[in-house]
Amino acid sequence: GGDGCERDREVNVQVVLRCRPLSEEEQRANVQSAISCNDLKREVTVLHSLFKQVDKTFTFDKVFGPKSQQRSIYDHAVAPIVTDVLEGYNCTVFAFGQTGTGKTYTMEGEMRLKVSELPDTAGVIPRAVRHIFDMLEARKADYSMKVTFLELYNEDITDLLSLEGQSRFPEGRQKRPITLMEDGKGGAVIRGLEEIVVYSPSEIYRLLEHGSARRRTADTALNKQSSRSHAVFSINIHVKETTVGNEELMKYGRLNLVDLAGSENIARSGAREGRAREAGEMNKSLLTLGRVITALVEHSVHVPYRDSKLTRLLRESLGGKAKTCIIATVSPSVHFLEETLVTLDYASQAK
Ligand code: ADP
Ligand code: MG
Repeated sequence: GGDGCERDREVNVQVVLRCRPLSEEEQRANVQSAISCNDLKREVTVLHSLFKQVDKTFTFDKVFGPKSQQRSIYDHAVAPIVTDVLEGYNCTVFAFGQTGTGKTYTMEGEMRLKVSELPDTAGVIPRAVRHIFDMLEARKADYSMKVTFLELYNEDITDLLSLEGQSRFPEGRQKRPITLMEDGKGGAVIRGLEEIVVYSPSEIYRLLEHGSARRRTADTALNKQSSRSHAVFSINIHVKETTVGNEELMKYGRLNLVDLAGSENIARSGAREGRAREAGEMNKSLLTLGRVITALVEHSVHVPYRDSKLTRLLRESLGGKAKTCIIATVSPSVHFLEETLVTLDYASQAK
């Protein structure tokens, strides 16, 4: 329509909060819950009153309490933006939170994705894949689809899908350098990254499982690397539709699904660790992402995309005609109150 200008200025960042349930272990140990979620009022309260202090309440676009199901997160927070991908939007879903709060559970969920029906525990990625294929089939559209899956660690990009070098490097990482270049149009080109053409959900599930298995393998080899790295799964879709007047309409959309480094990597940096962390360590992308989102939300003239690899590679999908959903994840445990507050503070800045 004629609202193009307005659209460009509109900032489409949704921030939702998900609190995981206490684990069985925590329940057995009688760990106290210090977080109270009110899904209807979209509020999360940190129960400082347990420590004779004033409770602190945060409001988000949506709140998903400990009982919320994978399906509900997808349907209410993610599905609307996935629909926009087929209309030619670039969309990104981030999972952000302390390690152990359910980022990977939310994004990937439990994998047993061979069956045609998705299990209840399937996360955002397999659900988005299913949804995209269902929509394409319903429209009888011509399309082509490519996926990439990369990990960003210490500002270095690793291809989680490249087949090259797997046996030579038992830890499962390839050593071919991957470089990020500007395409001259404000976007990024990642040279050396495997783009896999896919035709069915099951192919994507297989790639997802393969890539995340490599991420886990790297974990044991490199001391829990995944808690300090970002995993970016992207689905690129070209849709060709024929209008009533027999005109061909091409739409190019992209969906990025990002499992971010643990938010404790922000909290722990700096003085508390006794010495400054080395420059270029994982925080750079996490900190810059926060600054970029704040700049977008505040309509700042300068958006510091160029300050980190993550924001450079997602640049076209952040701001402008792009839609973003941040799923902040927290634990209800009283033992993680401090980390939970870091997540809540950071996430509410993005609103
Ligand atoms: P992260 O990726 O943030 O480090 P994980 O996704 O690995 O955290 O979750 C940590 C543990 O908690 C896993 O065993 C996971 O299955 C479980 N978990 C996380 N969120 C939920 C949830 N909403 N419901 C049930 N189990 C969960
Ligand atoms: Mg994880």
